Amino acid sequence: MDFGLNGRWALVCAASKGLGRGCAEALVGEGVNVVITARGAQTLETTAAALRALNPAVQVRTVAGDIATAEGRMAALAACPQVDILVNNAGGPPPGDFRDWDRAQWIAALDANMLTPIELIKATVDGMGERGFGRIVNITSGAVKAPIDVLGLSNGARSGLTGFVAGIARQARIAGRNVTINNLLPGAFDTERLQKTMIAGAAKSGVSAEEMAAKRRVTIPAQRFGSAAEFGAICAMLCSAQAGYLTGQNILLDGGAYPGTF
Ligand code: NAD
Repeated sequence: MDFGLNGRWALVCAASKGLGRGCAEALVGEGVNVVITARGAQTLETTAAALRALNPAVQVRTVAGDIATAEGRMAALAACPQVDILVNNAGGPPPGDFRDWDRAQWIAALDANMLTPIELIKATVDGMGERGFGRIVNITSGAVKAPIDVLGLSNGARSGLTGFVAGIARQARIAGRNVTINNLLPGAFDTERLQKTMIAGAAKSGVSAEEMAAKRRVTIPAQRFGSAAEFGAICAMLCSAQAGYLTGQNILLDGGAYPGTF
């Protein structure tokens, strides 16, 4: 199916690796020009080169910087001629015990995983509405539906974003102008972040990272971790011209790990 996105521009945040990169790859495959951001310039340029090789017909621009800062966001927005598609993403907060977290740690989590996407939505959504097309996808987490106790910073910040999105996605000047806002909730995906978590968990429990990963895989009905490519494909589908009636939703991609009926 042709997703009808050829020639559109997308801003894909935090996209040098992992899920963000998967989204950028899928969009580039659909003929979308992209601005990709990440903190480290070197990996970002390597990813940009791979994206250009994937589809030489599209433009790929890079902006190195922290998307959780005002400067990082301004630079990212300035590099994108018009934002037709916005993929909000940033690194997740660290795990821990809420008794140890101070205000500064909470503010950092809120900045990265709640206020940054809100700022970027604010900067782009009305332009999308005026042009009659817009697709916003926020990468959140399965922890929004089934909280993980050690990820309290993530549970809290992402739930705040989820509540905010549920309200604004339904405004007539947004939904009524072919602008959709949805959240994609990853379960366990085989990215550098997950690999680091496995290594840290393995070191604590005295098993190898591979043993740790094998134990985790069998807890997932699909018996495997997801890939960034399949995550990106669903993101591109949500951004498609055909998906204009799908808005304000939380879409769980977790190989069946969430056990509820709804
Ligand atoms: P990853 O560590 O593999 O990749 C993260 C990417 O984001 C990198 O390109 C990094 O440079 C960039 N980045 C991080 N913070 C940034 C910032 N402040 N500004 C600009 N770029 C930044 O991570 P991932 O696994 O792709 O995870 C992406 C998001 O999804 C994270 O918020 C993570 O918590 C969440 N998530 C991931 C999983 C999973 O299984 N991988 C599960 C649930 C939630």
